[in-house]
Amino acid sequence: MSASLDTAAVEAREAVGGVARSDGLGELCVLMKLGEIVLKGSNRQLFERRLHNNIRAAARGLGEIKLSQRKGVIVIRMPGASDLEVAELGERMGNVMGVVWVHLVRRVPKDIDAVTDVAVRSMAERTGTFAVRARRRDKRFPMSSSEIAVHIGSAIRGAHNLPVKLKKPDNTVFVEVDKDEVFVFTDGMPGQGGLPVGMSGRALVLMSGGIDSPVAAYRMMRRGLKVDFLHFSGMPFTGPESIYKAYSLVRQLDRFQSGSRLFVVPFGKAQQQIKNSGVERLQIVAQRRLMLKTAETLAERLGGAALITGDALGQVASQTLTNITALDDAVDLPILRPLVGMDKSEIMTEARRIGTLTISELPDEDCCTLLTPRQVETAAKIPDLRQIERRLDAEELAEHLAGTAQVHKPSYLGGDSGAA
Ligand code: ATP
Ligand code: MG
Repeated sequence: MSASLDTAAVEAREAVGGVARSDGLGELCVLMKLGEIVLKGSNRQLFERRLHNNIRAAARGLGEIKLSQRKGVIVIRMPGASDLEVAELGERMGNVMGVVWVHLVRRVPKDIDAVTDVAVRSMAERTGTFAVRARRRDKRFPMSSSEIAVHIGSAIRGAHNLPVKLKKPDNTVFVEVDKDEVFVFTDGMPGQGGLPVGMSGRALVLMSGGIDSPVAAYRMMRRGLKVDFLHFSGMPFTGPESIYKAYSLVRQLDRFQSGSRLFVVPFGKAQQQIKNSGVERLQIVAQRRLMLKTAETLAERLGGAALITGDALGQVASQTLTNITALDDAVDLPILRPLVGMDKSEIMTEARRIGTLTISELPDEDCCTLLTPRQVETAAKIPDLRQIERRLDAEELAEHLAGTAQVHKPSYLGGDSGAA
């Protein structure tokens, strides 16, 4: 959570004690700036509809919201809500993909005196320099943007004796003139950017308990994919810890899409079967191919059009270019690897930011460390792998494994998400 919305929540609590205000300061609303979505031409309506649905899903349980779409901007009102509740709404909107900035704003009548009054009050108890930035989405307003800024700036200077500084001020007061009202605000927090979840279709993430796959899932959600998750546990040869980790990772990622499903497949016996077929150095790559084949079977059932993994080139022995090519050969669906060109430290920074790192770092018994051969093949040959799979009847085994998947619904907001 950014400091600015936190500060806004605290100020709101102090000012109104959690009760809806009727002091003429202007109704508190959430104003969001959209990014790429505004560039999508005739597809724009589709994008907006998807985004509005996602916003409603993220606001679930907060009470009635009123959404209004303007050019490149969405305003959400919660009539009758306390400022604290609006601050909570703003916090949730910070996780909705497709949003670039989230602001808590005061909604003020289109009257320069009323606007000036709210702007002056918004700077009470602030210190340091300030600037006013005004813009008009409605050009019929009788004052130009610079006239508005000068007018309000001199009122603030008079009231609080603060110096104006146009370049890199300590505080900025934003005034945005719209069709029916004016919005006044001082802070904001960056959103996730990207595209609304669901806009690009559906895919299945192969989700270990590790650091990489949750970040890969996040990256693809941000490009508009709605994702399901598939975790292979080492059960019955390991405990259930890796499943708990996968569950809490998915719950954490559910903030960004809602309605997440986690499928869990016990993989221990299949690993044993692979080992008994005498694969030796090929154990890891053969296992990964069987995971992918199982994932493909499940994805087809779920309407997923791609698989997603957390592979990064060269990070471990199974991720050499030759081995990655051998993995691609196992399935027909495309395998998306959004982390392929990233360093581990970059992936960890992102994992920390999206709140998955501490969960990933919990100890568990990963199924991949079961039955690991002493030496791992770094240049697996596709004909060798295919031969092993014929002996194992890997296609049928994958069908069987997909059939054993148990589904969970880890929801960030709790209860039934109701999302598609
Ligand atoms: P991660 O941190 O995501 O576990 P990793 O660096 O440990 O990745 P590998 O263990 O080789 O690398 O796994 C590469 C990818 O294979 C993972 O990112 C994930 O997509 C998939 N994968 C590995 N183990 C599992 C598992 N137990 N269940 C589901 N997918 C897995
Ligand atoms: Mg791993």
